Amino acid sequence: MTKPFSSLYRGQLLRDMEIQEYDLLVIGGGITGAGIALDAQVRGINTALIEMQDFAAGTSSRSTKLVHGGLRYLKQLEFKLVAEVGRERAIVYENAPHVTTPEWMLLPMIEGGTYGKFATSIGLRVYDALAGVKKNERRIMLNKEQTLAKEPLLAKEKLKGGGYYVEYRTDDARLTMEVMKEAVRRGAVASNYVKAEELLYENNKITGVVAIDQISGEKITIRAKKIINAAGPWVDTIREIDGSKKGKRLHVTKGIHLVIDGKRFPLKQSVYFDTPDGRMVFAIPRDGKTYVGTTDTNYQGDIANPKMTVEDRDYILRAANFMFPTLELTGKDVESSWAGLRPLIHEEGKSPSELSRKDEIFISESGLLTIAGGKLTGYRKMAERIVDLLAEQFKAEGRGTYPRCTTDHIRLSGGDVGGAEKFGTFKKEKVKEGVMLGLSEQEAKQLVLRYGSNVSRIFSRISEHDAEMTETGLPKQVFGPLLYAIEEEMATTPEDFFVRRTGALYFNMQGVREWKEPVIAYMAQKLDWNVEERMNHQKRLEQFMYDAAIPIQE
Ligand SMILES: Cc1cc2nc3c(=O)[nH]c(=O)nc-3n(C[C@H](O)[C@H](O)[C@H](O)COP(=O)(O)OP(=O)(O)OC[C@H]3O[C@@H](n4cnc5c(N)ncnc54)[C@H](O)[C@@H]3O)c2cc1C
Repeated sequence: MTKPFSSLYRGQLLRDMEIQEYDLLVIGGGITGAGIALDAQVRGINTALIEMQDFAAGTSSRSTKLVHGGLRYLKQLEFKLVAEVGRERAIVYENAPHVTTPEWMLLPMIEGGTYGKFATSIGLRVYDALAGVKKNERRIMLNKEQTLAKEPLLAKEKLKGGGYYVEYRTDDARLTMEVMKEAVRRGAVASNYVKAEELLYENNKITGVVAIDQISGEKITIRAKKIINAAGPWVDTIREIDGSKKGKRLHVTKGIHLVIDGKRFPLKQSVYFDTPDGRMVFAIPRDGKTYVGTTDTNYQGDIANPKMTVEDRDYILRAANFMFPTLELTGKDVESSWAGLRPLIHEEGKSPSELSRKDEIFISESGLLTIAGGKLTGYRKMAERIVDLLAEQFKAEGRGTYPRCTTDHIRLSGGDVGGAEKFGTFKKEKVKEGVMLGLSEQEAKQLVLRYGSNVSRIFSRISEHDAEMTETGLPKQVFGPLLYAIEEEMATTPEDFFVRRTGALYFNMQGVREWKEPVIAYMAQKLDWNVEERMNHQKRLEQFMYDAAIPIQE
């Protein structure tokens, strides 16, 4: 039976986890782990997943938030990768059009830039062919005037023209949540804030983990026939515990993004542009803000808390001022930011940008399976590869046969909108419903885009909890998502709600300041926090807000 994916029942869920032996335990609740849990559970492999922070709190909420066609891999001649990620983004779009939006991207060509006119034209055409780009989304070449008409903020003097092609925008944390929720709806068991601390063995074969509930401090033993290490930047830590960190190892690089208010950076159009040092970065408008990134630097610090440094911030500001010189952006314009770590496979002598984004699977002597590298965009294919391997192992060991992967046809949670083609009509109808509930058109639209077909579950909470909502002092567009996040998305801390469930801490810092007190008060009441717990949650949220806005000196 499906267990509620609610922070109200988390304690019970963890007690239940101790009782049974699972076919598979996944360590790590980022996009990779979530994708594996969904694929395995769909094939009938009884799966549990543990995540030591919140779902997607690792790299999977800290990316550029694009379901890439992989243009930059073309430059590195990784043709197979371009073709695969191109196909994958079409699949994600079909199965979850609410979290994937086609976005025309402008590639300005400048004097001495990465792509000249010929290379841009040919490169984008090859890319269209390899990535299987739809006819109406194939690249268009623009002259200087046409390019400036698309984005008047571009540096006029340097500009020679532009390429115009389609990328898909996503919300990485929400995509991870939708995959996770679908896995749970199909019978997988998953919990956040449960850390695998020790590995258990019988006859030198891995059979389980001893984990610690990071909320209660309690120890939990979870047993499984197979264990997959999908711990992103932490995969080598788990391999170390297993005594199998030999041969290939991880190479962690850091990337940051800055968020600037749309009034200060009124970008009309997403742009993928050259930096003065020959790299390329994105500037993308979202929810009245513009975000710009990313950097790519070697990283040796604390994996759980990568932070924006003054140097990172100034690098991105310099790049933005280089391409959009009239803005004259300074550190004061940065409202928020995020820093993430790429879990890449080390290759001797290569710089961060040259390292391949391909994924790899390692099998240890104990049977621990580790998957490392890869991209958000390729999560489904990564899951397919490792679950295929798992199914082969089960078969060889006489532990049953399992069907092939079918996740290419499986709608993610919230994706039940009649297919990508019909999402526009669905959106219109649901926005009307939201307006009838008293939401503004803009608020209703934002909710439909965030929750897809699950928006009905937000609307019903708004209409059925009127008295409770009034008592909290929260507006409908905050209360509905908050109650839904607690009851159906296992939001356990205020940070879960403001960062991974709504993205507000990045794109609506003002809203976080305005609503943090009543949100914390309501969560404290629902989740039964004592005074000390409530204070700790408040402090943590405030620290997170501070770190997002203020860079550290290194
Ligand atoms: C700056 C930047 C920009 C990027 N942009 C893009 C992009 O636009 N498009 C794209 O496709 N890809 C992009 N990527 C890559 C993509 O974000 C990552 O490949 C992907 O998110 C990795 O997911 P993951 O699940 O493997 O790792 P993570 O998301 O880090 O998940 C691993 C999880 O394991 C958990 N964990 C670790 N140890 C334990 C333990 N002992 N017990 C329990 N849980 C544990 C962690 O808490 C973590 O949440 C970008 C990456 C970066 C850094």
